[in-house]
Amino acid sequence: MKIICVGRNYPAHIEELENQRPKEPVLFIKPDTSILQKKQAFYLPHFTQEAHYEVEVMVKIDRIGKHIAPNFASKYYSQIGLGIDFTARSLQSELKAKGLPWEKAKAFDGSALVGEWFSKTQFSDINALSFRLDKNGTTVQQGNTAQMLWKINELIAYCSQFFTLKIGDLIFTGTPAGVGPVAEGDHLVGFLENREAFSLKVK
Ligand code: ZN
Repeated sequence: MKIICVGRNYPAHIEELENQRPKEPVLFIKPDTSILQKKQAFYLPHFTQEAHYEVEVMVKIDRIGKHIAPNFASKYYSQIGLGIDFTARSLQSELKAKGLPWEKAKAFDGSALVGEWFSKTQFSDINALSFRLDKNGTTVQQGNTAQMLWKINELIAYCSQFFTLKIGDLIFTGTPAGVGPVAEGDHLVGFLENREAFSLKVK
């Protein structure tokens, strides 16, 4: 399986990293070895001085598809969840400055925290889901899927133009503003519409 991640999908986050607003979705892929299950701890990688959290809504693909039309995209997933796209930010900034690929900073082991899955039927509107990340009891990121530049169904359709979507593939749909560093001992808890999706320690 693969994890397709979307970059720069929330205007306020684009501004905080001083990036340009893209004309099309920015995509990158994490391999299956990047998955961190929700019961595991996140270990700070040795190759960066600054590891950042990015809380993101995720969808799990449960039907194979290519060139999916946006109005059929909702048939390709039935579960939705919340995860973290951990990022070695200082390394990513170096790579970006050199115009090099981001994989070392984005796709390393343990960089994709996959939280709890919820049936999408539990939510009345997928395009108005609130979510947040608390660090040590304080809310550090808060978002709503209504703020996305490209909505979930548009992302599925867009991704499927380049990559065949297979059963079990995940899509991380981008992070809202408020990304920041983690330190040893931090406790991160994520909520999707007030349902706890994960709770993990940084080691
Ligand atoms: Zn991200």
